[in-house]
Amino acid sequence: MNIAIVGSGPAGCYLADQVLRLVPEAKVDVVDRLPVPFGLVRYGVAPDHQSTKAVSRILDRVLSHKQVNFFGNVDVGRDVTIDNLLDYYDAVVLATGASRDHRLGIPGEDLPGVIGSGEFVAWYNGHPDSSPPLVENVRSAVVIGNGNVAIDVARVLAKTPAELAGSDLSSEITQHLAAQPLESIHIVGRRTGSDVKFTPHELAELGTLQRARAQVLDKSQLSGGAPILETFRKFEPRTDAPVTIDFHFGMTPIAFSGTGRVERARFRCADCTERELAADLVVTCIGYESLACCNESPTNGIFKNDDGKVRDRLFVVGWAKRGPSGVIASSRNDAQVVAQKIAKEVTAKGGSGGESLRNQLVQVGVRFVDHSGWKRINAAEIARAGEQRCRNKFTSRAQMLEAAQDSGAQ
Ligand code: NAP
Repeated sequence: MNIAIVGSGPAGCYLADQVLRLVPEAKVDVVDRLPVPFGLVRYGVAPDHQSTKAVSRILDRVLSHKQVNFFGNVDVGRDVTIDNLLDYYDAVVLATGASRDHRLGIPGEDLPGVIGSGEFVAWYNGHPDSSPPLVENVRSAVVIGNGNVAIDVARVLAKTPAELAGSDLSSEITQHLAAQPLESIHIVGRRTGSDVKFTPHELAELGTLQRARAQVLDKSQLSGGAPILETFRKFEPRTDAPVTIDFHFGMTPIAFSGTGRVERARFRCADCTERELAADLVVTCIGYESLACCNESPTNGIFKNDDGKVRDRLFVVGWAKRGPSGVIASSRNDAQVVAQKIAKEVTAKGGSGGESLRNQLVQVGVRFVDHSGWKRINAAEIARAGEQRCRNKFTSRAQMLEAAQDSGAQ
């Protein structure tokens, strides 16, 4: 059986692994539009959470399996279509994630300085398609949303360069963030403190930062028995921190305003009053949706599916299947279910799979990167890391392709 998986993030790699467990003779090709694999792990997980990024070693083992081929730098839609893949392979699986930011749909959202977390996180993680957001003279940053992405964004803004040592945040972005005259970060949720989606470990970490004091000024917001409230209550009062991280609850964003760039964020409070916060930067961390792939379009942010099946021989896994929720390991459970469906429903029809894909890519002149090409990029990024970083990522495709050369790049 020949399977093509579109997307080499955790969902795609876990699926390849699960398929091979159930169908040991299967051949699995994993295609990614970037020359480098691991999607969300490389470009979504925060650069200072290297223990979470360590899952890439497990994913890399999947890609190095002798029956798995990596085709990096191949854009499904531009270089090859889903229909092409369905011709070449017995089944095609979309593991394309959810990369577009949800929008609030309120006035001022397009002002410079208002940015979705997907774009912001892609920027600080060195994604080659990201463009630098307006992060200048930031005294007051407003982070909207009460999920773990909001925590990541606040933490990266608040950490000192010393705290970011050992991460893979580039030294340019580290210096740029350190140069901001930051005084306050406001993390704003529309519901109560009991309703937050933060996990206790991530929330508690905000209480341990060198230069920032995490606090909930209105203690009445912390009454109740929800276990997460205990984490808020444990934040130590401090007077030595130049930056405050203030949590606000029950505040729904209604508008951003400013002259030429964002300056203020306006909210409707639970008691129907309105409140304004100074905002030189606003990062909206309110979830993501999937992008269309060829003629397949998402509905309500995901590809409509029945337990992972989109239609005959076309499947979907991960955030593209269920929406942007859960930890990385959740995609493994998801992959198990979809792999079982594939093992049960798909029959080998004798197509030539990777050979046909390779021929088409050569024909259209795509310089694709195989697993050994990725290994060479990986080694080069680690070699140029310097003392303060665990990796210095290439931030352009051209650099990546150059580093991949002579090791399988075609
Ligand atoms: P999330 O956990 O779903 O949180 C999204 C937040 O946005 C919620 O507080 C939600 O409020 C709010 N929101 C949505 N629409 C809004 C609107 N129109 N106005 C105001 N607020 C709005 O999503 P996430 O933070 O993007 O994280 C995605 C997934 O990745 C989660 O499963 C998360 O745990 C995971 N993740 C994990 C880690 C980690 O483990 N370290 C790090 C990052 C991300 P409501 O609750 O009111 O809808």
